[in-house]
Amino acid sequence: MNKPILAEMHTHLIEKKVKPKDYWKAVLEKKLKIIAITEHVEYNPKKAYLDLKKIKPKNIILIPGMEAKTSAGHLIIFGKDESIYNVPDIQTINIPIEKALQRIKEYNLTASFAHPYGYKTDSTCSIIGEKKTKELLEKYEIGTEYYNGMLGSATSLIFKNKILKNTYNISDYLAKHKKLKFLNKAKIIEKKLYEISQETFMRVKNGITFSENAKYITAGSDAHYPRNIGMGVVELKKMPKNESDFLKMIEKREIKWAGPNKYLKNPISDVKKIEMLMGLKYLTKKKILKDKIKKPKKKKIKLIKDKFKSLLNKTKKVIKKVKKRG
Ligand SMILES: [Zn+2]
Ligand SMILES: [Zn+2]
Repeated sequence: MNKPILAEMHTHLIEKKVKPKDYWKAVLEKKLKIIAITEHVEYNPKKAYLDLKKIKPKNIILIPGMEAKTSAGHLIIFGKDESIYNVPDIQTINIPIEKALQRIKEYNLTASFAHPYGYKTDSTCSIIGEKKTKELLEKYEIGTEYYNGMLGSATSLIFKNKILKNTYNISDYLAKHKKLKFLNKAKIIEKKLYEISQETFMRVKNGITFSENAKYITAGSDAHYPRNIGMGVVELKKMPKNESDFLKMIEKREIKWAGPNKYLKNPISDVKKIEMLMGLKYLTKKKILKDKIKKPKKKKIKLIKDKFKSLLNKTKKVIKKVKKRG
């Protein structure tokens, strides 16, 4: 079997002070061939790119990029070389979305709405709505992030890895489970957490379905730590020659599939629980903490106890009877 050619298109370095050598170690371990560094504009994306480029292993393509903060949420932008960092305006915080998209067109850049349904405060569809997002996708012919590893992992963690564990192609899985029946089976005691998890799953699902509206799709882990690098990938049909060749492949949708990295032993559970809980807090604007989970009332507990007792007594009587007969 040929070795898969995997591209990871959403990573961070500076925000959590990751060392470039640890970043590359993870890239090599996960056997990625192409990786994009998309540092947040607030954290000097050019420095992130240059620091990584300095010690880049041979035969790996590093795509310079950034995660812009627009009036319509996060937008990941990719370029063929470091001239991307000289493009005017795109690194301005809260740049009007259309202005950013005009620049992208003007400078021939590749771009994608990151986690389009992800986090309430950063995601295009949540901020400007689906209709307007679709209009922008058509007008500027850009992409959307089909799969975001952070969100995918949050979902799987909440559902105790049941959903994505063996799901290498999410869209197949979704097609098979249209009614989301498994949600009822999930044994999650806290009602609030259950609701949030359902909501998160829908965010992942919506991102995937929404990608049908885009000219092309991207996928990435959104890793802020090395261990999470490579959890979301695009598999290519062949190895691109260089950065611009890769971006052309993406724009022409010349890919095999995108989603959680099926070639990893654990495509999703590399995320630590505490990290995910932090993510969830962010996701819900501390919803969990605000309205604390209600404890069942004492009366109810007593009722259940009583019921259980009487059931136990009945059973004991039956056993006695059977013993007498026997
Ligand atoms: Zn983001
Ligand atoms: Zn990000």
